[in-house]
Amino acid sequence: MRPPTPGQASVYMRTATNLRTGITRREVILATAGLVCLGSGARRIASAAEPSPAAPAVSGGPFTLPPLPYAESALDPVISATTLGFHHDKHHKAYVENLNKAVAGTPLADQPLEKIIATTYGVADKAGIYNNAGQHFNHSFYWKSLRPQGGGEPPAVLRHKIDEAFGSMEGLHKEWLAAATSQFGSGWAWLVLDGGKLAVTKTGNADSPLTRGQKPLLTIDVWEHAYYLDYQNRRADYVNAVLDKAINWGFAADNLSV
Ligand code: MN
Repeated sequence: MRPPTPGQASVYMRTATNLRTGITRREVILATAGLVCLGSGARRIASAAEPSPAAPAVSGGPFTLPPLPYAESALDPVISATTLGFHHDKHHKAYVENLNKAVAGTPLADQPLEKIIATTYGVADKAGIYNNAGQHFNHSFYWKSLRPQGGGEPPAVLRHKIDEAFGSMEGLHKEWLAAATSQFGSGWAWLVLDGGKLAVTKTGNADSPLTRGQKPLLTIDVWEHAYYLDYQNRRADYVNAVLDKAINWGFAADNLSV
């Protein structure tokens, strides 16, 4: 990934001055240095790719919809512009708006996204907040897990850990595909760091590895809205295409080092 331009970095730093985004000084330093940080979805990253010019703003709450880190058409034909447009501008936007409404006037409004997820997990009367917070985190992470002309050979440090855990790239692909296609109903298929070793895992609905003590490295959205317009019921075709042509190994390598 190429580093952010000075303009991007300064935009990021101005954003970081807003305490409600929950961005820490360390993350600003990382962003300024051109490193992508493992992120809460609330924050704007100093991304290498072009932001979507049509990215809508969401106002009226502590959380904001991050722009796609690439143009809506940039992942075509793996994921069409139509799918990305609906997914980001309608689905993700709605999670952010619902989260803002749900936390308005409560102590949670001032909390970082990961903290909200941790404190509302498994709390019955906070399920609405948990689900929208989880989906905001997961989608923000998903956009960064993809990139135009992705796939291919991972950075050496990541490749070493893949071989260690799965034997080969094919081994990882096979296990990730199995997790994605065996997730019953809506959910997510992840590459995580668990106790220092890579692992593949799946979560249902808005759940993520954050509540399991695992560090997320990459995710694939397997809700039907992520692929149905392009692949209909062929979830495996979508996952295979993402892994071969759109997965962002560089993002995983960056997450390993943070
Ligand atoms: Mn989704």
